[in-house]
Amino acid sequence: MIASDRVRRSLRRTALTVLKGCGAFHLVKSSDWRRQRLTIVCYHGISLEDENEWRPFLYIGPDQFERRLEILRRGNYSVLALGEALERLYRNDLPPRSVAITFDDGTYDFYRQAYPRLKQFGFPVTVYLTTYYSDLQCPVFHLIGYYMLWKARERGTMDLAEFGGPRNVMLASLEQRQKAIDQIAQVAAAQGLTGLQKNAMAARLAQRLNIDYQELVSKRILQLMTPEEVKELAAEGVDFQLHTHRHRTPLEEALFRKEIRDNREHIARSVSGDKTHFCYPSGAYRPEFLEWLAAEGVVSATTCDTALATAKSNPLLLPRLVDTTGRSDLEFESWVNGIAHFLSSGRKAQKAYVGRPSS
Ligand SMILES: [Zn+2]
Repeated sequence: MIASDRVRRSLRRTALTVLKGCGAFHLVKSSDWRRQRLTIVCYHGISLEDENEWRPFLYIGPDQFERRLEILRRGNYSVLALGEALERLYRNDLPPRSVAITFDDGTYDFYRQAYPRLKQFGFPVTVYLTTYYSDLQCPVFHLIGYYMLWKARERGTMDLAEFGGPRNVMLASLEQRQKAIDQIAQVAAAQGLTGLQKNAMAARLAQRLNIDYQELVSKRILQLMTPEEVKELAAEGVDFQLHTHRHRTPLEEALFRKEIRDNREHIARSVSGDKTHFCYPSGAYRPEFLEWLAAEGVVSATTCDTALATAKSNPLLLPRLVDTTGRSDLEFESWVNGIAHFLSSGRKAQKAYVGRPSS
């Protein structure tokens, strides 16, 4: 972290501590201003093992997640199902302190780590499910590649030419690890490798790195929930919604709309009911996407831009709070109670999330 960021964080922490101490948290939380707003919280994954050390902006640890849920319970927040929350937002009929909880992607750790905790607190949840890897049932190629190179980060340099990657990859460098996997994935795509062929390549890469791939697979790290698991959780009341079939948003209308239709059709194999809520993969959106989504009957779409939603928010560009390992409990609290709105700039908010495609 560079020095100015450290100073900014430290000032922010001090400001929040002072504001909490003088009663400003309570004042904003109980205000009419806050009652007219909805904080939509976004998570990606809750670690099965060490994923939060590998990708702190994608994963948080189970203890940290539990502390967030405790903040919501103790603060008497109204945690609403996403559909209800949005209807009431636009009717100007929200209860005090409204929050909706969403998870992107639908990785297995949601089933194992997140859902049992949400159930214990009695909080509803929406999962934006990407379906290609849910059907395939092997680790997401890009992600398991990044993860395994991170695991091997103390092993000097490596020649990845046999996989279509660079020759001298310095494993200690995050940038070089990512570039190497991106290059390998590009070559695999150009060769038209199937998901299973890419999985076999990931197993070979693991072997070169002395990583037990079967063990990673059996732990279900960076795998999606199976259609059976989705069905089981849907029966318990988990709301499954759209996130594209292959976690991508093509720039050509027909392909973009096919992603939505394929995703909807695959979810419908496990879950009944309308699928009309959408989340942009990697938070990436363009103006033309809104028209295409509307044409596919999508009524809401969430981004990764940090802000509270209001009745004036475009329903196809709803902001969220992306919760990450780096956010302190105090900072999380300041976003759900609304104080953070007065302390943040739009420029800073946009930087909160850095996403990458996952297929
Ligand atoms: Zn995603």
